[in-house]
Amino acid sequence: MAIAYNKRTHDCGALRASDVGKEVILAGWVNNYRDHGDNLVFIDLRDRGGLTQCRFNVDTDPDATKLARTLRKEDCIAVRGEVISRGENVNPKLPTGEIEVSVHEVNVLSKSLTPPFEVAEHVEANEDLRLKYRFLDLRRPPMQRAIITRHKVQQAFRNFYYNEGFIEVETPILTKSTPEGARDYLVPSRVWPGEFYALPQSPQLFKQLLMMSGFDRYMQIARCFRDEDLRADRQPEFTQVDLEMAFVDVDNVLDVVERSLAYVWKQILDIEIPTPFRRMRYDDAMRDYGSDKPDLRYGMKLIDVSEVAKKTDFKVFADALARGGIIKAICLPGGADMTRKETDGLTAEIQGVGAGGLPLCKVASENGEVVLQTGIAKFFGKEAAAELVAAMDAKPGDLIFFAAGRFNDVCKHLNWLRTTLAERRKLIPEGRWEFLWIVDMPAFEYDDETGTWVFMHHPFTMPHDEDLDRLESDPGSVRAKCYDAVLNGVELGSGSIRIHRQDVQQRIFRMLGMTDEQAWAKFSHLLNALQYGPPPHGGLALGVDRIAMLLTGMNSIRDVIAFPKTQKAFCPLTEAPSAVDPKQLRELHIDLAAELKAKQQQGK
Ligand code: ASP
Repeated sequence: MAIAYNKRTHDCGALRASDVGKEVILAGWVNNYRDHGDNLVFIDLRDRGGLTQCRFNVDTDPDATKLARTLRKEDCIAVRGEVISRGENVNPKLPTGEIEVSVHEVNVLSKSLTPPFEVAEHVEANEDLRLKYRFLDLRRPPMQRAIITRHKVQQAFRNFYYNEGFIEVETPILTKSTPEGARDYLVPSRVWPGEFYALPQSPQLFKQLLMMSGFDRYMQIARCFRDEDLRADRQPEFTQVDLEMAFVDVDNVLDVVERSLAYVWKQILDIEIPTPFRRMRYDDAMRDYGSDKPDLRYGMKLIDVSEVAKKTDFKVFADALARGGIIKAICLPGGADMTRKETDGLTAEIQGVGAGGLPLCKVASENGEVVLQTGIAKFFGKEAAAELVAAMDAKPGDLIFFAAGRFNDVCKHLNWLRTTLAERRKLIPEGRWEFLWIVDMPAFEYDDETGTWVFMHHPFTMPHDEDLDRLESDPGSVRAKCYDAVLNGVELGSGSIRIHRQDVQQRIFRMLGMTDEQAWAKFSHLLNALQYGPPPHGGLALGVDRIAMLLTGMNSIRDVIAFPKTQKAFCPLTEAPSAVDPKQLRELHIDLAAELKAKQQQGK
């Protein structure tokens, strides 16, 4: 009778020396296969628990060994046998390395084609192939570890928030647009011809409504959908730990969120993260790092050297200052060893980011005096050079880079340079977790392209009480009760205290260019509910994919998502999106444009 694979006694990572002598049943995949040609065959059997070496001996178990000789990688089998000691041949790299299973019986549950890539720790295969064969890619130990860690992360967040009295509530997927700054994914309605649901960019308005419904503390591990241009750390659908609390102000939300993060880090990495986290005003972050998510694991702050720059003869500086711009610099410790070729390469790259060039100079020591050399050194007189060195706190052997122009451009270029240099020159210490809150963001940003004010977070964010008077007269100066959680240069999440006054909410909608009628048409559910005793409330959402990526040390969020899409929002596994049956389109009252129809007939 074939082995009862449903009577597995252990997983493939479980057996130890203390199990020697036991009769066991294991099941899993053939990880590798070694035929010694004489009387022995070895198979490493793999399941999610790990690897166990199985030994087949033709003298004692001829039938099992004969069958074993037909096995190939990724065949799915069950074995029954006895745990025996490996004696001298212990494999210290494997937790099961002290034992092997001497197999008496094998049951081939299914055969595998030759896999298109090795199911191993490392693969050479390109990502498209890995995604097409995701079921094999996910069998690889690093992917198993990543997905299992992600599960533990979600479980830890749930434990924490449940213990703090948060109620998990599911909110609709087929809903109405909630603006979070991206394009909506739309779903056509069959029942309502010509009308569409939007997939939620976040559960934002529902969680606010839950506060108005009296639930007080809500959380959800929620899927969000945003149709935006994808980058390495973005996916069209992603997961958030979404939360909302009533009767709170900024401090209450930050307190619970930072404790939840410290809890998760403790559970997953057994690391103590000190709380409270450091807080930095948005303006200070931009001034010192040129970024609203600064990486604090290393220095190289941006220093304003406009005053020194005035004393130089460098035309680029003079022009920028004349146009109302600024000059900022960063100092790369020990950077003077960079070759001309390297700095020319950086110049070309930063031009790609939009900078005009990359002025620089080296700091050196001449006859005991600190001097500037190369690059734009010649434009600095002795006094200006000394002032620059002092402002930058530079030492001989350092390299100073400059950026000149509008504040926003200077921030963008030097932030790129700072983060790029830190990575390439390995200035980032291992194992540091620099958590940070960015607070006091501006509520609105002026969009040069459209000539309108746009919200920085979302339009439901409460302005600072003392700034409310300037909402219409000077929107640029209005700060929002908004906060971002940042870790090592990555935005983990953001949130805000919400507007719970209908008059303020309507003023914000007007400011954003909506008439009252338009605002009611879009947000009647919110504006209506705000008339029935809404409590003050606020919340935040944390990006689970990014958190899991950081905790697993993976390079991309795709590696912690079981079935992700490519940068082009395509799923190589299912080949979604795909054309649909014309009948389905008719039912949905959709007629494709002629050129699309023609294209579909030709195939993708
Ligand atoms: N809905 C926001 C977002 O998805 C988070 C929040 O304000 O709570 O970014």
